[in-house]
Amino acid sequence: MRTETSRFKDYIETKGLYFTPERQCIAEEVFSNHKHLDAEELLKILKTKGSKASRATVYRTLDLLVESGLVDKIDLGDGRAAYEHTAGHTHHDHLICIKCGSVEEFEEPLIEQLQDWACEKAGFKATGHNLNIYGYCRSCNATQ
Ligand SMILES: [Zn+2]
Ligand SMILES: [Zn+2]
Ligand SMILES: [Zn+2]
Repeated sequence: MRTETSRFKDYIETKGLYFTPERQCIAEEVFSNHKHLDAEELLKILKTKGSKASRATVYRTLDLLVESGLVDKIDLGDGRAAYEHTAGHTHHDHLICIKCGSVEEFEEPLIEQLQDWACEKAGFKATGHNLNIYGYCRSCNATQ
């Protein structure tokens, strides 16, 4: 976590911005939380921990975290997004419930292989991918 925070500090400073205590607080929370957090949830957690970071600062810092490559942004649909840090987590894809908003992780070797194959055919050198599948989770599907 310390290394992620210091890497983020370096990133912020190379952009000519200040690594403020608010930004540090936000980054440390994102790096230590292993859930898929949305910005409003994060704001609430920070408030309970006594942080004075404004909503605008939280959103701006999340953007910077994504730009730095240390955090992934997951499109939940409806304009909502969740964030997760990448260090310490192996590659995975997401099943996103459009009813309750749950985010489940999955990893399917066959899908990964097919994507490699598609890239190879296109002569495309992939550096990463996001795969989100939208629909209804097991419990929402049961109550449809
Ligand atoms: Zn994948
Ligand atoms: Zn659901
Ligand atoms: Zn995830």
